[in-house]
Amino acid sequence: MLIVANWKAYVETMEKAKRLLSVAKRLSMAGHHEIVIAPSAPHLGYLAGGNRTSVEFAAQDVSQTLGGAATGEVTAGLLADLGVSYVIVGHSERRAAGETDAIVLEKTRHALAHGLIPILCIGERERDAEAAYITHLRTQLSSVLSVLSQKERMRMVIAYEPIWAIGKSAAESITSADLTEMVLYIRKILGEFLPGKGNLKVRILYGGSVESANARTLAASSGIDGFLIGHASVDAASFGAIAKAVS
Ligand code: PEP
Repeated sequence: MLIVANWKAYVETMEKAKRLLSVAKRLSMAGHHEIVIAPSAPHLGYLAGGNRTSVEFAAQDVSQTLGGAATGEVTAGLLADLGVSYVIVGHSERRAAGETDAIVLEKTRHALAHGLIPILCIGERERDAEAAYITHLRTQLSSVLSVLSQKERMRMVIAYEPIWAIGKSAAESITSADLTEMVLYIRKILGEFLPGKGNLKVRILYGGSVESANARTLAASSGIDGFLIGHASVDAASFGAIAKAVS
């Protein structure tokens, strides 16, 4: 399983960041999963620099610009130079701040051009009776995949994160049956862009209130390749319990 910890802006001190990282290192040394930590930009700079452990790092976002006069931006080049492996693009919290599919595409392309692996977040705001959410997911995926080369498509990680399930509790998260259906649908779209076995190289993660109480059930038969975890990833005990639950 690929387990990505999205610390968002939850971790406010370096002391806590270091503590959480040492838990992640222990889990990663246990060897069951690929553990990726996505700290805030300042903590990423501190923790990822000179990283020699099996824990990998992700940026929570990347700039649309490539450099130059762009105050406050963190470019793909800077992240690559730091040794960061992954970049989350199109997270719903960034989309809510105005990020369009076109911007997500640009960020994805910058990440790929610098050797970073994009974790492309897609997900519907609500499950409407007319199933418009299905079309919404197709649009979010196609707007990026249609522009990439076959080789670039195979480097993508897709994180299915229904917005209605984010930041709640395990009891309010997606059901295993619904997740299985959504993973099948996402795989079908991936198959259109990567026919044959190529699409199997693309990992599909689930994110949205994954906690120790639902991790095992969600992972069991849904076809997902891992999780993107928000609030439960900044609680050392919960994060450890999730990793153990899906071992
Ligand atoms: C997220 O926002 O990426 C996420 C998965 O959050 P949470 O686990 O808190 O629902």
